[in-house]
Amino acid sequence: MVSYMIQKEAPVFERADIVVVGGGPAGVAAAIAAARCGRKVLLLEQSGQLGGMGTLANVSVFMGVGNVTGIYREIVSEFMPQQPLPDNHKGSIWPQYNPFRLRYYLNEKLEKEGVDVLFHVGFVSAVTEQGRVKAVVANSREGLIAFEADVFIDCTGDGRVAIDAGATYTSGREGDGMTQPMTMMFMMQDTGRPVKLSLPEGCPRYESVEELPQGRLLHWEQSEPGNLLVNMTRVKGNGAKVREASRAEREALRQVFAVADYLQRNGHEQYVLSHVPGQTGVRETNQIVGHYTLSEDDLLAGRRFRDVVAQTNYEIDIHSPDGKAGTDERKIDGYDIPYRCLVPKGVEGLLVAGRAMSATHVAMSSMRVQATCYGLGQAAGIAASIAAARGLRLLDVDVDDLHAGLASQNVVFQKG
Ligand SMILES: Cc1cc2nc3c(=O)[nH]c(=O)nc-3n(C[C@H](O)[C@H](O)[C@H](O)COP(=O)(O)OP(=O)(O)OC[C@H]3O[C@@H](n4cnc5c(N)ncnc54)[C@H](O)[C@@H]3O)c2cc1C
Repeated sequence: MVSYMIQKEAPVFERADIVVVGGGPAGVAAAIAAARCGRKVLLLEQSGQLGGMGTLANVSVFMGVGNVTGIYREIVSEFMPQQPLPDNHKGSIWPQYNPFRLRYYLNEKLEKEGVDVLFHVGFVSAVTEQGRVKAVVANSREGLIAFEADVFIDCTGDGRVAIDAGATYTSGREGDGMTQPMTMMFMMQDTGRPVKLSLPEGCPRYESVEELPQGRLLHWEQSEPGNLLVNMTRVKGNGAKVREASRAEREALRQVFAVADYLQRNGHEQYVLSHVPGQTGVRETNQIVGHYTLSEDDLLAGRRFRDVVAQTNYEIDIHSPDGKAGTDERKIDGYDIPYRCLVPKGVEGLLVAGRAMSATHVAMSSMRVQATCYGLGQAAGIAASIAAARGLRLLDVDVDDLHAGLASQNVVFQKG
């Protein structure tokens, strides 16, 4: 393969104590948590909105994790005040929400929290010195610019910063590297009168549930009357690969029209397609190799860890990576996620929070949901703040100090 070496100047645009890359659930919570620790925080987001898959890809339902605590609990209570919250650790919630309002709410929230959010700033490369991340270079509306910080938190979902900085990573199933498929979630709205069918040329016409991409009906109508959220498309591929992600955008859109057409002929005769997000949702790409790798066995054994930073009882939930119908769903009792899963091996000055943390294919299928990613981000923000304030290596952050920081930000863990 022909390749080019480039040498370009990237002026330092800003310096902060903590730079968070990626504004999804993990990045949002990391930034808020670090700002509450008194740090100067910059959040770099490549799109024009916060919320990650929850807004960008219209994944507008929070799965129940049995751990409604910390910043996640606060966000739900502020953004959906009508939503009852559980008063014990096992109780959970599964609310559908309005993604446009979440986007608005998060903009306002991060402004109030004093986080400097820069949109349309996409991470390009990490600048390292003796294995430590010193700066990140990003593409922006003003060209290449750099950001310096004491600690960086990679919340890109793909582990992009960590991988560029030299961290090792895995991708997909241990046997064949296949990841969970991508899905474009869309909305339909009840108009109160029959709608005209118009399936664009080239889209398949489904005649039965078995023919649908997931071989099942999967939709919710809980947030607003007549607003149907549909999770029924499915495209095989790894969303971190240029060709596979590009193919998925075309195929998923075909499926959106085809599924909508099927629903309009089968029980939703009065519904129109009302929202198609700007990008296909990506469930799984890269997992960094951290100082601990969460495994299927940890989930099944309900393992507890001294350095717990998040807890969940969300099921093992693997949409068939071969893109065919079928989902491996297995209930579990609940387990801990240890801090070491966020600390990449071989790179200093960097944490990885959210779905790209260190986990096997099966383990990530459970920890990947939004509530857990908010929890992991909050822990990363606090750990990064402690390390930055005391000049510590991230792996040397004292667990008791981290737990005290989490408790001071209203994170409650189930004991035992
Ligand atoms: C189709 C689908 C259905 C799902 N269903 C549910 C569900 O029902 N309930 C639930 O709770 N969870 C669900 N999930 C899982 C959940 O949405 C994600 O796992 C979760 O959003 C991951 O959070 P994150 O912060 O790690 O990453 P993401 O949400 O992926 O956010 C990453 C952010 O980083 C930004 N970014 C990426 N690269 C760069 C870069 N180079 N520079 C700057 N910014 C960058 C992205 O734009 C994005 O904003 C679903 C996911 C998908 C795809």
